Amino acid sequence: MQRRIFISFPMDYPDIYEPLIREGYEVIFGTEPSHPMASERKEYSEGELIRKCRDVDAVLASPRLHLNQRVLISATRLVGICQRGIGFNNIDIETASKLGILVTNAPVESEFVNVAEHTIALIFALAKKLKTISTLLSQGIPAYFDERVSTITLRGKTIGIIGLGRIGARVATLLRPFGVKLLGYDPYISKEKAKSIGVQLVDLNILLKESDFVTIHVPLTTETRHMIGERELALMKNTSYIVNTARGAIIDETALINALRNGKIAGAALDVLEKEPVCPDSPLLKMDNVILTPHIAGRNVESLIEGEKMAVENCLKILKGIVPEYVVNPEAIPKWKEKISTQTRS
Ligand code: NAD
Repeated sequence: MQRRIFISFPMDYPDIYEPLIREGYEVIFGTEPSHPMASERKEYSEGELIRKCRDVDAVLASPRLHLNQRVLISATRLVGICQRGIGFNNIDIETASKLGILVTNAPVESEFVNVAEHTIALIFALAKKLKTISTLLSQGIPAYFDERVSTITLRGKTIGIIGLGRIGARVATLLRPFGVKLLGYDPYISKEKAKSIGVQLVDLNILLKESDFVTIHVPLTTETRHMIGERELALMKNTSYIVNTARGAIIDETALINALRNGKIAGAALDVLEKEPVCPDSPLLKMDNVILTPHIAGRNVESLIEGEKMAVENCLKILKGIVPEYVVNPEAIPKWKEKISTQTRS
């Protein structure tokens, strides 16, 4: 039986997919636009997705493809899901593991470097009040000494980094030359690793209380959903700023809007929101002290190409029975091996 692969997005860069076609796989391209926030956004309904995945051996997914329990259970041939980006909270990992489906992500360097650089840009844009100054200027108000545009000197300030993996660690490394104090919260890394990147590990409450800027770099999981809510925002200084380039639902957005409205914190810069794309009537769009970008931190042509190439490599390995490098659910390996060998025999 010919093996089939469903790729949820269109073939923007044909060369990337040639290795799959050369191996004799049937490749079916989907219609999701390349960019997560593209305006002609077309989501698959659950029913459509069930039909698309039912008879395929592997799926190359974008972070917008919602591979939930019902979709996975109905995809009886499926042995691999290869995500082209870093985040994979769109996939029901527990069910995938139970069903022997290996899930891989594509943490390509260009993507995590992009997110770290974007984070730095957002911290500086907040500190230097670029939005306010530019808006005032466009209104003909050159507010040189206006209190609204009194900018912040980063040197000597404290920056709290939540999550010190690839992106959080890179953010720390980029910030060090600016003479800031770096605090970090990540229960899964060692003090030594934190020290090696110039970060002092503290508990979350201390980080929130002491930081002038808090930046979030954890994955969205059941543990991190709304990890920043009303209580946590109340711990922050009213002169402090929060930056989120990870996933929107890590911050309780209603609590954040209230904290910004009530002056409990000084401002925010958000690349990700609980509901994307941003609602045209979102109060966040009207706030002078809020900078929004449309989930674009990691994405440019370079990272897209690298991410798709890595997803293809992962897919080829999975279908050949080789465990790829970036498996996010290694607990699935024994069941996946069984499934692959049964399928190869039949
Ligand atoms: P990573 O896996 O390398 O690092 C995540 C870190 O978070 C790890 O060190 C882990 O120990 C820590 N962590 C996990 N749970 C935690 C918790 N409850 N409290 C504190 N720390 C916790 O991931 P990464 O490559 O650094 O990416 C981080 C996230 O960035 C991704 O999961 C993704 O959601 C997001 N991302 C966003 C974009 C974008 O365009 N905005 C692009 C890529 C990735």
